[in-house]
Amino acid sequence: MCEQITDKNVSSLVEKHDTFIFDCDGVLWNWPHVIPGAVDLLNKLTALGKQIFFVTNNSTKTQDDYAKRFADIGFNAAKKADQVPSDLQAIKTDEVQLDSDITCVISALDLHMSYLKVLKAATHLKRKEVLFLGTNDDASLPTNDEVVMPGAGAVLAAVTAASGRLPTILGKPHTPMWKVIQDEFNLNPTKTVMVGDRLETDIAFGNNQGLTTILVLTGATNESHVNELKEQKTDKSNIPNFYISGVGKLAQLIND
Ligand code: PLP
Ligand code: CA
Repeated sequence: MCEQITDKNVSSLVEKHDTFIFDCDGVLWNWPHVIPGAVDLLNKLTALGKQIFFVTNNSTKTQDDYAKRFADIGFNAAKKADQVPSDLQAIKTDEVQLDSDITCVISALDLHMSYLKVLKAATHLKRKEVLFLGTNDDASLPTNDEVVMPGAGAVLAAVTAASGRLPTILGKPHTPMWKVIQDEFNLNPTKTVMVGDRLETDIAFGNNQGLTTILVLTGATNESHVNELKEQKTDKSNIPNFYISGVGKLAQLIND
């Protein structure tokens, strides 16, 4: 566990796996700045015949936004997996009427959350047949400053508390995000790598599903965290199999 990727182990790591899943923010970019070497790595892995997937907990952008983003940075991302199970439709909380047509409440990041919206969501959820979904439970948004920006998890906590219901959470580290791509693309967990920057979302997601996990240090986790992890004896769920300074270094090791 928690082994550094070097020129000694990189080839076997790449050869053993046919699929690479990348978290986006903190791994490929720190919005809007692309991490040096990110596109090089994606192109290199593609040239080696690897399948590539992107998983993000950012519920504020659509797949089309991401397709454009990848095209803008020089990578052609073509395949699409379902965003949510296909029989469900997202309902915007500010459009919700208190009528019985509503079959699902989805809680997502909402910079304009209000008492009234939580009231409406919780009231719909009184009917047990109404499905309760959360996009993700990230407590806060990635930010460089001292400010704490509450994330989708903070919105979800309010709806959960008010409704007394437990949501099914779609994003990392929960299983639905994995199931959507595994079922559609028939992925083998033992041949799949998850690359991420957050221990409690990305690394836990990969470890929970039996994937090989790589932590990069360009986002939420730094080298001193890694040293603490190496000492940790108890909970292994957030400990990556491998770590490396960033995707640029990985591209460079594969190139050599
Ligand atoms: N949620 C929001 C609203 C964000 O803006 C971000 C990052 O920009 C995230 C979640 C985390 O995204 P990721 O899972 O790609 O790190
Ligand atoms: Ca991230």
